[in-house]
Amino acid sequence: MKKISLMVLLLLSQTTLAAENLIILSLDGLRWQEVFQGADRQLIDDERYSEDSQALASEFWREDVKERRETLMPFFWDTLATQGVFIGDRSRNSRMRVSNPWYFSYPGYNELLTGKADPEINSNKKVPNNNITFLEWLNHKPDYAGKVAAFGSWDVFPYIINTERTSVPVNAGFMDATGKPLSMKEAYLNELQAQTPSPWATVRLDVFTFNFALEYLKREQPRVVYISLGETDDFAHDGEYDQYLRAAHRSDAMIRQLWDFLQSHDAYRNNTNLLLTSDHGRGKTPEDWQHHASAEAVKTYMEALGETFPNGIEGSETTWFAAIGPDIKPLGNFTPEQEITLSQVLPTALTTLDETPKSMNPDMDTAITEVLR
Ligand SMILES: [Zn+2]
Repeated sequence: MKKISLMVLLLLSQTTLAAENLIILSLDGLRWQEVFQGADRQLIDDERYSEDSQALASEFWREDVKERRETLMPFFWDTLATQGVFIGDRSRNSRMRVSNPWYFSYPGYNELLTGKADPEINSNKKVPNNNITFLEWLNHKPDYAGKVAAFGSWDVFPYIINTERTSVPVNAGFMDATGKPLSMKEAYLNELQAQTPSPWATVRLDVFTFNFALEYLKREQPRVVYISLGETDDFAHDGEYDQYLRAAHRSDAMIRQLWDFLQSHDAYRNNTNLLLTSDHGRGKTPEDWQHHASAEAVKTYMEALGETFPNGIEGSETTWFAAIGPDIKPLGNFTPEQEITLSQVLPTALTTLDETPKSMNPDMDTAITEVLR
């Protein structure tokens, strides 16, 4: 009897997913076009959008699309794409979009972090979220309590995650690292953050967000971390295609550093899934690539944008997904039969933790089971 039940246990353990840790990382408004095709020649050559088109071309333009995309995001292509899976390359008919009706950030992050679009969330204002994110939900469970954290470049994240209600630590905007004792690096990052000029009032440079997250992983060994990088979106809004590309390139290097750290650490090695996505797309042409909004959004909330783009920004509903880790099938490109949605990232993530998405929210969308082992 004992032998049989042991065998049953063994069989069962083979069908459950393996990794105990989860990292979701998003790159704000990074288009699928750059992720899967590399730099865009038209935008490189457009003198409105870079300081030096020639220099930018030598940095990121390659005739061959494989070389070009690998030049922009080497970790994505040499490691993630070969050992993991990606969705959203529309040139291969792999399609993914947001399911909220607005195509901008707060609605997108709510969709990502709750697993369900909420059409009522219709602005980027600092309003505490009525919905519960997975961070808050997991933090209530004994297995995860105190082992969940979030890091963001945008100062609206404390509201999206609702730190009035949840005790999940959220370091976002221009917040310092807190806790005792801080690592030497954290203390130094706090100093540098106070001394470094920021291009934007509500978004900090990703170097701080990323390194605060990395140091926290080393110091506290959380099981679940959400990281939101923001430079790609803000440089795009500013019309700086050169800086947008460099931000994507730096973000890719940060993700490599993160993955190398995870794979070097006893608690995380082969025990952590890393999921990447973006909160919305952007326009497709030199006239509209800077922006992102649905027709409904420009009609209702964005008068200035609506004057030029009454039909919204076509393409800003598109997004993409990529993942690597012990529970992820190494499929490379995956073309789902139907277009998948941003809201499916969270149920996929929860499934890798052996959590039941519907027990967090019965209305949550379904996991992308095809990419899971
Ligand atoms: Zn955004």
